[in-house]
Amino acid sequence: MQKQVLVVEDNEEILSVINRLLNKDYQVFTATNGKKALSVLKNNNVDVIVSDIMMPEMDGIELCKKLKSDIEYSHIPIVLLTAKNDPSDRAEAYESGADAFISKPFSINVLHARIKNLLTRQDRIARDFKSQLVFEIKDLNFTSLDEEFLQKAIDCVNSHLSNSDFDQQQFAKEMSVSKSTLYNKLRTLTGLNTSAFITNIRLKAACQIMNQNRTIRISDLAYDVGFNDPKYFSSCFKKEFKMRPTEYIESLTTVLQQDE
Ligand code: MN
Repeated sequence: MQKQVLVVEDNEEILSVINRLLNKDYQVFTATNGKKALSVLKNNNVDVIVSDIMMPEMDGIELCKKLKSDIEYSHIPIVLLTAKNDPSDRAEAYESGADAFISKPFSINVLHARIKNLLTRQDRIARDFKSQLVFEIKDLNFTSLDEEFLQKAIDCVNSHLSNSDFDQQQFAKEMSVSKSTLYNKLRTLTGLNTSAFITNIRLKAACQIMNQNRTIRISDLAYDVGFNDPKYFSSCFKKEFKMRPTEYIESLTTVLQQDE
């Protein structure tokens, strides 16, 4: 699926040039000030925002601050287009929480590279999240709001570990967000949809339990992490970590013997 970029720029000439150049690779939305950008965001899923700073109604700094402090949007990377010869303007831009800066006038190649970079960074983080057993959220460079959100989501699933009825509805309710916001945030922050996220956290918990108790029966382990069917649990585990739970336990034992 094509990634979606929102370009916010009050100079319509520049706006249409950027639009034309990005259009080949992305689905592009445009807005001529921060206020209009907010209404585009309300109705569309946007993967990256490129915004000018000086604009009427709502400027790029205000837009950026607003988005980075709103849980609905704080995960969307923002590239600010800064004016080259205004240092005070720049200092403010850096404090706004933007993810990248480009000085005007800029080459379209630089803009392209910056956007691509932000998108691949997101994909890489998502891949890491899925496969890493011990996960350091701090290493991810999320905004503190997103860091908090992800930690809360992990804790939330862990606190319902053995409850196989724990579902997306209850999850969203406990996170105090709508189901679609929960989906969008998890998707961006971890690359997983809501139910895959729940499964992933449960399987990671299963590893922790096996680390502590190497003689646990796989059927008991399955129930402990919210699976009603041990066979299904084993197959999910294998899909996620490329080995069966029994093989995981064996691998722990092998490492232990090598230590001795
Ligand atoms: Mn402007």
